[in-house]
Amino acid sequence: MIIRKIKLMQKYVRDQRRTSKTIGFVPTMGALHEGHLSLIRRARKENDIVVMSIFVNPKQFGPKEDFAKYPRPFKKDIELAKSAGADIIFYPGTKEMYSEEYQTYIDVEKITKGLCGASRPDHFRGVATVVTKLFNAVPAERAYFGQKDYQQVRIIKRMVEDLNIPVKIVICPIVRGKDGLAMSSRNQYLSLEERRSATCLYEALQVAKAMVKSGIKDTVRIKNEMHGIIESNFLAKIDYVEIVDAETLASVEKIQNKAVIAVAVFIGKTRLIDNEIVRGS
Ligand code: AMP
Repeated sequence: MIIRKIKLMQKYVRDQRRTSKTIGFVPTMGALHEGHLSLIRRARKENDIVVMSIFVNPKQFGPKEDFAKYPRPFKKDIELAKSAGADIIFYPGTKEMYSEEYQTYIDVEKITKGLCGASRPDHFRGVATVVTKLFNAVPAERAYFGQKDYQQVRIIKRMVEDLNIPVKIVICPIVRGKDGLAMSSRNQYLSLEERRSATCLYEALQVAKAMVKSGIKDTVRIKNEMHGIIESNFLAKIDYVEIVDAETLASVEKIQNKAVIAVAVFIGKTRLIDNEIVRGS
């Protein structure tokens, strides 16, 4: 079933909860791939009802970003979502989500500033705002997010705790293609040649992970190695290569506890991100 109105969505969830059904929620922007489907399948296992939302949120795109051309293959998405086990597709229009009088935003502070926040200044304000609105429209027991967007899910966890939003955030592993490239709706922008170059993100992360495993803790050394691998690729332009604390997202000099190695790289005009979680001890 497709639900387009917030009030109807809320009523549906209320009615289900009255009969003690649990709701698992998977927010997406559509253009579904195996990464999204893995979240639906996980939600299917852990809940009675699975709701997936499709909403391309204008407030998280910068003025020069790809909002207008973001892929919207709605019919195909519905089929894929159903086949993976979604019961309800929540599909609100832009006006349903943002009235002309709209003026309320959620601003998570420190952890939004680095990594992707540095080159996409209002991005996480848009994400935190839309996710809060979606949580109010679909008040679920559990919500499912991918580790692929590591900073995003840390921000959402912070926000849920800070604002006492009664939902459990479940983080799901990154789904990759055979060549290691993390699945992303934006991969379809890549030409064949770019698609081949795009594996340099994964290659650099694997080399970094192996360095950590062999006992190397010095993040400058690891980042230099990663720069070398990515920059040897003439189609690739680095936005950032960072190693941060897995909780605070602050840069670390030595990998001691749980850290995240995160990269953002332009392949031609397409900006791709990826990450690996590592442990120093
Ligand atoms: P998006 O439609 O890009 O906003 O993504 C919706 C959700 O799917 C987010 O929680 C993403 O982190 C997650 N996701 C996107 N790509 C992947 C992937 N390759 N593996 C796992 N989760 C993913």
